[in-house]
Amino acid sequence: MTMERKRIFVAGHRGMVGSAIVRQLAVHDDVELITRDRHELDLMSQAAVDEFFSTAQVDEVYLAAAKVGGIHANNNYPADFIHDNLVMEANIIGAAHRYGVQKLLFLGSSCIYPKFAEQPIREDSLLTGELEPTNEPYAIAKIAGIKLCESFNRQHGRDYRSVMPTNLYGPHDNFHPENSHVIPALLRRFHGAKVNGDAEVSVWGSGKPMREFLHVDDMAAASVHVMELDGSTYEAHTQPMLSHINVGTGVDCTIRELAETIARVVGFEGEVTFDTSKPDGTPRKLLDVSRLKNLGWQASVSLEEGLRDAYDWYVNNVEQAR
Ligand code: GDP
Repeated sequence: MTMERKRIFVAGHRGMVGSAIVRQLAVHDDVELITRDRHELDLMSQAAVDEFFSTAQVDEVYLAAAKVGGIHANNNYPADFIHDNLVMEANIIGAAHRYGVQKLLFLGSSCIYPKFAEQPIREDSLLTGELEPTNEPYAIAKIAGIKLCESFNRQHGRDYRSVMPTNLYGPHDNFHPENSHVIPALLRRFHGAKVNGDAEVSVWGSGKPMREFLHVDDMAAASVHVMELDGSTYEAHTQPMLSHINVGTGVDCTIRELAETIARVVGFEGEVTFDTSKPDGTPRKLLDVSRLKNLGWQASVSLEEGLRDAYDWYVNNVEQAR
């Protein structure tokens, strides 16, 4: 018997999250993966995206394409962050609808939530307060993506879902020394110190802020889990205008604990110091993941295990690490 395979388009398959989703879906034999490189399909061009959907016979979309970056990049290129993300989302979601794609998963970010949201952050705190100013343009574009999905569902009966991950890390992360997030930055710094035989490593800030970290393989597994829930189950756990789902571990740790774990994983035996002239950022950022838990999914990669995996990838790819 020949099996009808679902044709799934992963937009952004070269990125950290998109590539993890591709790895996750590659083992499903009822799936036929569709990917397009940047030079084959320009997601910024409405005409090109329409043309792609008009012929590709896509059944489902994972929208993992986005312009992303740390605080430095967000501060310096706010126009790119809001404009490029709005255009890509509108192009893909609009064309998916026009060419009859019934199911789509939009990937957002926990920065959509108000700066002073109550912790752990519930989905319904969306749009209840001011955003963190440094990444507001990016966050507004991501909020628009959620609202695009909800609006196509309401007006056209589509089944477009959204997932909002906490801080992600893993293979294909950005390891830039200044522009990256804390995990890749510290893996790189501790590794460099070990190789050079340095006596100490300096970590930004006081070490007291708390953060939640999710390995990207867990994020990909959660994404597929949410996408595969049947429509009535998904609807029973969400609301028409509040249809996004948080994805995290539900557990956070201090930056000091993180730095100590990274020192152990890397095998750096010197001293860890804290540079309080560098910013701490928000004191705590933890997602409430009870909605996802009630839908039957929990993270399975421990922080230490995940850090070992990310470190292995970095060591094996130092040359091409961005
Ligand atoms: P945030 O969650 O948006 O604040 O993102 P980051 O990953 O950039 O920072 C998380 C925390 O790690 C902040 O308190 C930083 O001060 C701290 N941190 C410590 N060392 C570093 C580093 O080398 N790079 C970055 N990006 N953050 C660091």
